[in-house]
Amino acid sequence: MSVPLYQVPEQQPSVWQPTSVEEAMHLKHKWGDKAVLISGGTWLRTRWENGVSPLPQHLISLAHIQALSGLAMDAGGQIHIGPSLRLADLMDSELMQMKCALLVKACAEIAAPSVRNLASIGGNVVTRTGDLITALLVMDAQVVCSNGTAEYTLPLAKWLDVPAQAISEVMTGIKVPNIDIEDAERTFEFYLKVGRREAFTPSVVTVAGRLSLAPDQTIQSLALAAGGGSAVPARFVDLETAAIGRPLSKDLLQSLHTGVSEGFQAVPDDYAGVAYRKQTAANLIVSECYKVWRKGGGANAPKS
Ligand SMILES: Cc1cc2nc3c(=O)[nH]c(=O)nc-3n(C[C@H](O)[C@H](O)[C@H](O)COP(=O)(O)OP(=O)(O)OC[C@H]3O[C@@H](n4cnc5c(N)ncnc54)[C@H](O)[C@@H]3O)c2cc1C
Repeated sequence: MSVPLYQVPEQQPSVWQPTSVEEAMHLKHKWGDKAVLISGGTWLRTRWENGVSPLPQHLISLAHIQALSGLAMDAGGQIHIGPSLRLADLMDSELMQMKCALLVKACAEIAAPSVRNLASIGGNVVTRTGDLITALLVMDAQVVCSNGTAEYTLPLAKWLDVPAQAISEVMTGIKVPNIDIEDAERTFEFYLKVGRREAFTPSVVTVAGRLSLAPDQTIQSLALAAGGGSAVPARFVDLETAAIGRPLSKDLLQSLHTGVSEGFQAVPDDYAGVAYRKQTAANLIVSECYKVWRKGGGANAPKS
């Protein structure tokens, strides 16, 4: 990490290496705002280097807490992902490739391999703006958090609604439910990211979706999410509900376009405004649904 000389603190941060969540939270409570939990450090270091956050006095590394690095499928087919797992490890895992292909695709679109060798999935989610979140939202992921004494589980969408706490908690798990795909040929998934430059800039827009069609070509289930830049990613729950049971028609595609554009809470920055981000999210989602209409609907697709 390079820090301009005038920013080098008199004392470099102490690095603490707890081996349990309880110990990590004890240290966090002890040092308060003077300490930060750190996993791969790739997001934090961009903040220190850009002067967005000061280098804290204490870094509490999560790297030696083994309980945060597991990856397993339980008897019900639910996947349990340790938040300290590196993006590169997730991409290499056969279990992830088989059961969480959308997440693997999203990981592959983040930064360069050197960053993915350090960056963790938990760090990506805890930032609340990470590019993996849209994929996890359409996968109906849940997060598990601990304050050091008690753990709670929340759907990721609900966790994102709660403002970040002053005294942080440790994210101890990410759970992805078993999606029983009845007919793989009628189920479609997508993840797309638009950025200014592929590897080194934050995304402008990310979208993800999962759509399944009933045998009569009506929509059986639908999950859509958008995020990107500083926006907190979110699902389009009302739009999804309204689409269930309807044929995937041109009318529906038009209403999805309007709904995504109006519903996406985009955040502007120096490079892209709100209108551009909204239109990009709507175009990406509708173009993917259009492909499904052509592919899944086939010759019987309504001509409306
Ligand atoms: C060159 C470069 C390119 C990048 N490109 C992208 C990109 O394309 N898309 C993208 O989304 N991100 C990108 N990033 C940001 C970052 O690499 C990723 O978001 C990464 O997944 C963050 O993980 P980390 O382990 O490094 O997090 P850290 O930097 O260690 O932590 C991030 C935040 O999460 C907290 N935290 C970490 N783990 C836990 C936990 N278990 N419990 C509670 N809090 C925790 C930390 O306190 C901190 O607030 C990029 C970074 C760099 C340097």
